[in-house]
Amino acid sequence: MTHRVHLSPPDIGPLEESYVIAALRSGWVAPAGPDLDAFESEVAARVGTRSAVAVSSGTAALHLALLAVGVSPGDAVLVPTLTFVATANAVRYTGARPVFVDCDPHTGNVDVSLVVELLNRLRTRGERVGAVVPVDMFGSCVDYGELLPACAASGVPVVEDAAEALGAMHRGRAAGSFGRVGALSFNGNKIMTTSGGGMLVSDDLPLLARARHLANQAREATVHYEHRETGYNYRLSNLLAALGRAQLIRLDEMIGRRRQLRDRYAKLFAPVPGVELLGANDPASNCWLTVIRVRPELSGWKVAELAAHLADRNIETRPVWKPMHRQPAYAGSECLLTGASDDLFAEGLTLPSGSALAERQVGAVFGAIDEFLTSRAGASSA
Ligand SMILES: *Cc1c(COP(=O)(O)O)cnc(C)c1O
Repeated sequence: MTHRVHLSPPDIGPLEESYVIAALRSGWVAPAGPDLDAFESEVAARVGTRSAVAVSSGTAALHLALLAVGVSPGDAVLVPTLTFVATANAVRYTGARPVFVDCDPHTGNVDVSLVVELLNRLRTRGERVGAVVPVDMFGSCVDYGELLPACAASGVPVVEDAAEALGAMHRGRAAGSFGRVGALSFNGNKIMTTSGGGMLVSDDLPLLARARHLANQAREATVHYEHRETGYNYRLSNLLAALGRAQLIRLDEMIGRRRQLRDRYAKLFAPVPGVELLGANDPASNCWLTVIRVRPELSGWKVAELAAHLADRNIETRPVWKPMHRQPAYAGSECLLTGASDDLFAEGLTLPSGSALAERQVGAVFGAIDEFLTSRAGASSA
């Protein structure tokens, strides 16, 4: 029997094994140690920021980043409505309220003109905006050439959610480096993993020191346990950092594999009417997930039919993120919408994109899609 083909499984091999075993044998089985320090330096070097703070998840990184730029209870924080719920949850943890912004229909990234409109609207109402949180969706950077000047003009700090985009570039700079602080995720389904983990990256050393303090239960530098404020236990373990170091060595190879897959999908769907590849024009994406959008009035079939066909063959696909303004947990939130994210949710599909997919599995995926397209082409011409 064939095994299930997953969307984006972890890509782990002998290098990772050797790094974790070495860390284990070193005795540093703690949220401190040489691998943790090295992992922070190596990721900062990769992203091109002065420093970094490793934490237990991307969500924790976002939470601390928001606190560190001064987001306070009652603030409005601009968040794309098309994102994973962690972006919005992190805002809520601070007591601020997310205000949701719709996306560009061709990239899934936040529509910058709407951000500008909202900043003006909130300023007119006299509301404090604590931060703007652009998300580099599916591994493609937001158009920072437009976004950053708009936020700077309003005096609003940018916290970049680069959880999906490590290794992606934009105008010669790396994802994670665009805001005052960036948040990365090393969750199991991301471009590289520590099984669970995250990191703040920034040039702002006092900001990172503040985040590190909060991540360590806000413990003061005394022998006894002294705490002047409420902190968090958000540190990453040295063992997981060792796993991350091995993954980082392989990052470019893993991105290359995902790019190959994306190029094959692009070729396969190019002649098919009504099918668009999201972010297809971005040559510097890390190709984390490949997403298609299917317009049934042009294709003659719905994306759900393709998803069902693949599910029958044990191949996992997923809709794109259900927009935050559609989530019961965020019902009643303020938003600025165009319908673009609703359309992507209705007509988008995330295809198997992992770097660990075996050639046999890739063959099964492309064979199954081919079979589906052939049957539909036959049906429509009959
Ligand atoms: C994965 C993800 C996160 C959260 O990362 P975790 O490590 O799972 O906490 C945040 N934002 C986006 C856009 C993500 O995709």
